[in-house]
Amino acid sequence: MTYSQQVKNELCHGKFSCENCQKAFVYGMLLTSRGVSNKSFTVNTENKLVADFLAENIIDLTGSIVTVQHPDFREKNKRPIYTVSLENTNDIENILKLYDKKAVLDKTSINWSMIRNICCQNSFLRGTYLSCGAMSNPEKEYHLEFCLSNESVCDDILDLLYNVDLDFRKATRGKNFIAYVKESQQIEDTLTYLGAIRSSMELMNLKIVKEIRNTANRRTNCETANIEKTVNAAVTQIRKIEYLLETKGLDFLPIELQEAAKLRLNNPDASLSELCELSPQKISRSGFNHRIKKLCTISDELRNEK
Ligand SMILES: [Zn+2]
Repeated sequence: MTYSQQVKNELCHGKFSCENCQKAFVYGMLLTSRGVSNKSFTVNTENKLVADFLAENIIDLTGSIVTVQHPDFREKNKRPIYTVSLENTNDIENILKLYDKKAVLDKTSINWSMIRNICCQNSFLRGTYLSCGAMSNPEKEYHLEFCLSNESVCDDILDLLYNVDLDFRKATRGKNFIAYVKESQQIEDTLTYLGAIRSSMELMNLKIVKEIRNTANRRTNCETANIEKTVNAAVTQIRKIEYLLETKGLDFLPIELQEAAKLRLNNPDASLSELCELSPQKISRSGFNHRIKKLCTISDELRNEK
């Protein structure tokens, strides 16, 4: 199941706040889906729970006989589509009568008298999201949208969302108008507002896991860089000391430099601090660093003399 389906499944549960909320919810779904006219009533959806939930609510509101047609799963290449339909013209008349008929049939504006209460506006948007909303898998991308065929309905939905501090943006895709958000926080807030609390929490958790993973990666990168630096420095030091010993021999050096040179050559992987630990007199880091530098300087001078 996709994340988008999961959100929709969650939105098919939960009660309505007031008597009119149920009506507002169905209104949201009918206004933004195709296939509803004076004579025919078919609403298509890819989600079984959405189809069942719409049917239940229509039956509850009107007592109509509602059919939910399941997709033919033998057609593997086709997207599964569930169809909610009313076949009896009286039943169609009854559902349209529930609303100002025009409000459902005219899909170019929202009838505000249907959604005066704040709670009903919420139910309306929940219905709208079930019919034309979608979101991306948050593991890959943060994106939640409503896809509308009419621009002024899209603008009205943007206003409704803006009224509850959800700052959606508008775009076009083909002939459609898209109200969308791309910030994870806004998506969390939208899911919570619509009533998908569990999905919202899941998104929050996912974000925390992502952040931890990023921090861990950054730290590993940083450690790798430090190790590289240590190794590069060691390689240079070893090359210089080897040159020095080849040219002048170990005895050429005072005893403390001989010890430092041997330690460095015998432990090519060790960092400076580790070499100090290994030194018999437990010499300080700066003291040891000084000796290594001295060895490198002598080697450089010998090379320059040549
Ligand atoms: Zn209400």
